[in-house]
Amino acid sequence: MLIEGFGQEGQERLAGARVTAVGLGGLGSPLAIYLAAAGVGRLTLCDYKEVDAPDLNRQVLHWEGDVGRAKADSALEKLRALNPRIRIEVIKDPVSRENVRGLVEGSDVVVDCLDNFDTRYLLNEACVGLGIPLVHAAVEGLRGQATTVVPGKSPCLRCVIPVAPQRKAVFPIIGFTAGFLAMVEAAETVKLITGVGETLAGKLLVADLGDNSYQVLETRKNPDCPTCGSR
Ligand SMILES: [Zn+2]
Repeated sequence: MLIEGFGQEGQERLAGARVTAVGLGGLGSPLAIYLAAAGVGRLTLCDYKEVDAPDLNRQVLHWEGDVGRAKADSALEKLRALNPRIRIEVIKDPVSRENVRGLVEGSDVVVDCLDNFDTRYLLNEACVGLGIPLVHAAVEGLRGQATTVVPGKSPCLRCVIPVAPQRKAVFPIIGFTAGFLAMVEAAETVKLITGVGETLAGKLLVADLGDNSYQVLETRKNPDCPTCGSR
């Protein structure tokens, strides 16, 4: 509350906000911890998979004893213990074309904590259609990227990344890369809700923790974008 422009009003805005995060893995775990600790009033968290031992290096909400449990259950238990004053709901269904609009409807911000672009594009379409800001991040190895989509104002995810990178069956992620980009997503979410600072709308952060290069590139709206072109 001592941050300039944030104040008690900023904290109250957080308390009144609803954030939906899709994915409770390497990005979603740290994101959910920080949003719960920040006092976001209502968190809807979505993941249909179970905790897997090799993922514990980055999925910091899930611990050794959670292996084999639903990530949604593990997350709910930890986050409720962290902040019992906020409302937390979990959804254990995979995101599909059929359920995506219902899932994000009513959210103030949607956060993409996914590991594949097929589902990211579904989220992007639903958020653009419903006018809900979407915060995106993706990580691989020591590198990651992030952007924010404000429908009607900024390019959408499809404008910025028109074609999905080829999907790899297995790709490496080191914990701190996911944590770093998750913190960028948490910051974007809090800024969108409170109006403090400037977001990555119309910009793409490209971070390489291997050589410490952090670039913020301008992005452009594609007038022929299949998702937001006519908007
Ligand atoms: Zn677009």
